[in-house]
Amino acid sequence: MTTALLFRDDAYLAETPATVLAINERGGIELDRTVFYATGGGQPGDAGLLRRADGSTITIGSAVYGPQDRSRILHVPLDGQPAPQPGEAVTAVLDWERRLKRMRIHTALHLLSVVLPFPVTGGAIGDGDGRLDFDIPEGGLDKVEIAEKLNALVARNAAVTERWITDAELDANPGLVKTMSVQPPRGSGRIRLVAIGDIDLQPCGGTHVRNTAEIGLVAVTDIEKKGKQNRRVRIALA
Ligand SMILES: [Zn+2]
Repeated sequence: MTTALLFRDDAYLAETPATVLAINERGGIELDRTVFYATGGGQPGDAGLLRRADGSTITIGSAVYGPQDRSRILHVPLDGQPAPQPGEAVTAVLDWERRLKRMRIHTALHLLSVVLPFPVTGGAIGDGDGRLDFDIPEGGLDKVEIAEKLNALVARNAAVTERWITDAELDANPGLVKTMSVQPPRGSGRIRLVAIGDIDLQPCGGTHVRNTAEIGLVAVTDIEKKGKQNRRVRIALA
């Protein structure tokens, strides 16, 4: 049994009817389909709730991939929540306000990797803020200058679109992979490419806004030296 990952095709889907497939020994709830993004690529799993037929709810703190494979997603309830029954019909509902902030930051981090065209060694997405770590031989980064360039890209109102390519096509274009620490998931034979207008193109399985205009004004809040060749650049929604 696998979970249909509805967020891959429509990141704006905030809820879906679903059927409980199983509950694992640690209480993780597996559904046949979900709008919950599972922790991965520096982005936390979504929070939200499962609404039951009687109107009561099960509060979900996060979502993670199953221990064996990435074809199933486990919805992790907060402590003390009731457990549903296998076969039960529920409605999976996102904490949309949080997810949208993560989508805005996630998309802004794509743009940051254009402003700073250096290898990315790590990253994280929070609720309204985020960071990327870059391999940069020299320092001399300026927060104001980076923010200006970033906001100029946001202001281009560029459409964010996706398409799928095969593993072989990616192998023929190794330059598409910017993030050294997060390789695109392989094995399924196809890889999802995310394009931001003609500004950026890279493999990504995350959730993005439809247009850079939705990101809004972004601030560069900090630049930390993390090692001789590494700079951590933090951004936040202004
Ligand atoms: Zn992405």
